[in-house]
Amino acid sequence: MSFEISLSGKTAVITGSNSGIGLGIARELARAGADIVLNSFTDSEEDHALAKEIADETGVTARYIPADMSKGDQCRDLITKAGVCDILVNNAGIQHVAGIPEFPTEKWDAILAINLSSAFHTTAVALPMMRKAGWGRVLNIASAHGLTASPYKSAYIAAKHGIVGLTKTTALETAKEPITANAICPGYVLTPIVEKQIPDTMKEYDMSREEVIEKVMLTRQPSKEFATVEQMGGTATFLCSEAAAQITGTTISVDGGWTAL
Ligand code: NAD
Repeated sequence: MSFEISLSGKTAVITGSNSGIGLGIARELARAGADIVLNSFTDSEEDHALAKEIADETGVTARYIPADMSKGDQCRDLITKAGVCDILVNNAGIQHVAGIPEFPTEKWDAILAINLSSAFHTTAVALPMMRKAGWGRVLNIASAHGLTASPYKSAYIAAKHGIVGLTKTTALETAKEPITANAICPGYVLTPIVEKQIPDTMKEYDMSREEVIEKVMLTRQPSKEFATVEQMGGTATFLCSEAAAQITGTTISVDGGWTAL
């Protein structure tokens, strides 16, 4: 048996997908034939234009559905409005950097809600749809920080370790069904969430942009290269293939060797 990857006839819902890794994954899944539901909390012309661009480029059906992933009921509504969800990519995420005593409670709450609880809510509605369809893939975008820690990122690291745990439980609850659940753990990928951290880190360490990238960000990434959104998309597509049907409840690192250190 050979393993060609065709996701034609499947629908993928990707949370937080109007930029960065989510958009990269959406584009790759669309290239493999999946219909796409893009999401973020905004509802702009640009958001809807992204869906049209993917549809024009690949010939799949692509929609944009706004929903705020910090709100449990909106997470659930997103999947209900999608109507079908064969592939669920829990990708929405935010970051805040501060020591624990100074860490604002509202940032802690928002990070836990968007980066972790949203995946619980979307999965709760998507699993019955996958069961009805007789096939499903849950892909949780964790992080190298789902497996290791760094200072000043307490909420993010707690949420990302949490989503790895949720992934394992999802896999065990679906183990006897043609449904898998896995977490992708990227190292540093140069997307808006990372761009936003550069100016503060430049100030904190009195470094240039290049020094921050080389000496702070990529210091733990032995390849000394950012991973790319296309690589995240390719990994997601592979996990949706039949070759990956027995891969479940695990983490796949795409981190240039970070977690080997
Ligand atoms: P990004 O800022 O480009 O993307 C985050 C996405 O989440 C955006 O589309 C944003 O609109 C969306 N989002 C934020 N708040 C939301 C909300 N309340 N409701 C709905 N959508 C919301 O950053 P990214 O790097 O593409 O991050 C995507 C995921 O990858 C995140 O979970 C992040 O933690 C994870 N990740 C990123 C890196 C990296 O280096 N970039 C590394 C490891 C893990």
